[in-house]
Amino acid sequence: MHSTTSSDPRFPRKPLNGCGGCHADFTSLRLFDAHRVGVYAYTYEQGLRLEPPAEDGRRCLDAEEMYSRGWEKDERGRWFDPVAVERARQGFAQNRPSAVCETSESPSWDSDEEEAT
Ligand SMILES: [Zn+2]
Repeated sequence: MHSTTSSDPRFPRKPLNGCGGCHADFTSLRLFDAHRVGVYAYTYEQGLRLEPPAEDGRRCLDAEEMYSRGWEKDERGRWFDPVAVERARQGFAQNRPSAVCETSESPSWDSDEEEAT
């Protein structure tokens, strides 16, 4: 039914890790995976039709749930996890002790994490 193509008109830009279910885009595949919750035997909608109805079917986190996890959207409208970004930055700083930490800067990287394409 749903088929995700690389050029989806629903996305203003070519999504990095775009979700065909909720149309959210993510800076990392890890975050994309994390926003898909529930069991994978059936979708949330299918679960509701079960006897008895189940509410643990797979679905996407909504924006409120993602904000509550501490995720934020960058200027491109892509979700990122500031904690993971900060952790990566600190790891980088440890490898290069001469570099001064610039923690006040907002994340403007284009995703140096794993990309889908
Ligand atoms: Zn989604």
